[in-house]
Amino acid sequence: NQVLQSEKDQDKTFYSFEYFPPRTEQGVENLLDRIERMGMTNPLWIDVTWNAGGSTSDITLDLCSQIQTFSGLDVLMHITCTYMTRDKVLESLDRAKELGIRNLLALRGDPPRGATDWIPIENGFNYAVDLVKFIREKYGDFFCIGVAGYPEVHLSAKSREDDIKYLKEKVDAGADFIITQLFYDNNIFMKWFKDCREAGITCEIIPGILPILGYDRFQRTIQFCKTIVPPEVSESLEPIKADDEEVRKYGIDFGVRQCRDFIDKGFRFLHFYTMNLERSVIEIIKGLGILDSQRDLPFKKSSKRSKEDVR
Ligand code: FAD
Repeated sequence: NQVLQSEKDQDKTFYSFEYFPPRTEQGVENLLDRIERMGMTNPLWIDVTWNAGGSTSDITLDLCSQIQTFSGLDVLMHITCTYMTRDKVLESLDRAKELGIRNLLALRGDPPRGATDWIPIENGFNYAVDLVKFIREKYGDFFCIGVAGYPEVHLSAKSREDDIKYLKEKVDAGADFIITQLFYDNNIFMKWFKDCREAGITCEIIPGILPILGYDRFQRTIQFCKTIVPPEVSESLEPIKADDEEVRKYGIDFGVRQCRDFIDKGFRFLHFYTMNLERSVIEIIKGLGILDSQRDLPFKKSSKRSKEDVR
């Protein structure tokens, strides 16, 4: 548990930034520039997501490697089981190890685009717990492993109790920490958090924060994830929904209040879903007064960056 352990005793709030791999070379370049700027705020780590089905897995691996090499920041690479045989997973993990990636978020994965149900494949995995077991079996303690948790309960879970029971199984199988799905009602999170603790889950549980970045985007996300929206949020957004700037401002204000509540409750880690955007997340961190601007990163100029440099 290298990343969390080394920082644990400091009296500070830490944050991490999650990005998804762009599909074009230019998109990757732009994202690396953005990560370079956001990296100056000294996040505890940078996550890169894994496309379900592994269709952009090379980009994820490359991005993780580039971020580590050029920024000196720790990277948390997501990896999912969707359409991945054990051999393919092993190949990706070997590659990650070769590239010096030490932190993984082990996930089952969503169904691939267009499919509604998640279907296991022959010689693959059924659940994230199988992936956690596999990583520990093959690589021992080389990787620090995170897993996903769902304060509003995973959409295909049989029950809330089962979902927490299976979350505990992932931790018992060797996961070091949990990052949660997005949510906007901290009371729901706190009740779930308490239930997790009562169920014997003792590891770090990190709230996953997705700022409200725009009205349409917010609506799409909450519909896709079936996220519960507190009345305060819907009522505040309704009169300003046509004004992008006002919605963004509200999103920042809400984000600061949502995160402040966690800091006041003693939470030390916050995980931001950036959606590859910069401004709102940085404004929230500034608003919380936790921005760490002391970091002097060994970033190279992006013009010097090329895939060949890290291969
Ligand atoms: P699991 O823990 O396997 O759970 C899936 C479902 O199965 C749950 O309903 C659970 O209750 C049930 N279950 C678990 N174990 C058992 C068992 N032994 N027996 C019966 N039922 C069981 N998706 C991507 O494609 N790429 C990403 O990079 C990505 N990053 C994410 C990051 C975070 C922080 C989060 C919260 C989610 C992310 N996802 C990502 C989405 C995730 O892949 C989906 O939510 C997926 O549907 C479930 O993944 P999981 O790892 O939580 O699955």
